[in-house]
Amino acid sequence: MHLRLTAIAALALCIAGEVPLACAQQRLGQVQPQVKHFKLGALDLWALRDSALIVPNDGSVFGLNADRAAVTNVLRAAGVSTHEVTLPVDVLLLRLPGHLILFDAGWGSEGHGVLRQSLASIGISPDEITDILITHSHSDHVGGLMDAHGRSTFAKARIRMSANEWAFMQTQDETRALASAIKTQIQTFEPGQPILPGITPLALYGHTPGHVGYEIAWRRWRLLDIGDLAHSSLISVAKPDWTIDYDNDKAQGARQRRQQFQRLAATHELIFAPHFPFPGVGRITPAGDGFSFRPEVPSEQ
Ligand SMILES: [Zn+2]
Repeated sequence: MHLRLTAIAALALCIAGEVPLACAQQRLGQVQPQVKHFKLGALDLWALRDSALIVPNDGSVFGLNADRAAVTNVLRAAGVSTHEVTLPVDVLLLRLPGHLILFDAGWGSEGHGVLRQSLASIGISPDEITDILITHSHSDHVGGLMDAHGRSTFAKARIRMSANEWAFMQTQDETRALASAIKTQIQTFEPGQPILPGITPLALYGHTPGHVGYEIAWRRWRLLDIGDLAHSSLISVAKPDWTIDYDNDKAQGARQRRQQFQRLAATHELIFAPHFPFPGVGRITPAGDGFSFRPEVPSEQ
């Protein structure tokens, strides 16, 4: 997703009642550090909590090309609040021989992120992280790369993202200072080839110009970190063709969701989705003219 600092500033004004009609109504949720360990074959993975964003169902974010009542119907049918949608911000951690790999870095201090506390709860310090694989450069995924003092949080890690995304990140007002702080750690790639043993970035352009997912493979096991291919585990999955305000290219984002969900429903592989209900691990299955998300955390093997 994509919530600028300016939107949070606008939110503060909203609470003060100074601009009651123009204010942004998205707000940060309160999140406690939490970790869920799971296995992919012999590989150890952890889902880590960082933050949460609460988004009003007012037609400004979800289903921009849909009837607002239809969006409400999807939420009502699932038995959840029809007034607002809570989007967790979670991060994936993977241990490989010689590597401790984060997939995205959470929101950081601007988003009240607790990723560092979640890592500390399993005894991992930031300096132990060897690689950070970035899906895209929105603040809820890269904000945690820099600490509150403007220093690189994971100073010993290689930070990898697609060449397209790195070019995009350096041109955005929101991330220019961050890009400068981490530039010596950056290593870019072209999607489609493995960048670490068993880890292949997959081009999922649309949400941003260089947005990627990461496929993790171990023997017959597969898990795809879908990044921000989808935001709501209900709306974005049931109605993949509905456009969302957070997508840079809304039409391309919608096409990408439909195409990838068709593939994932056919392969039945596991996914990790940073904005789905914690721990965000499960499978996509066909449902009506769309799909559904079935949470499933592989048990210890
Ligand atoms: Zn996001």
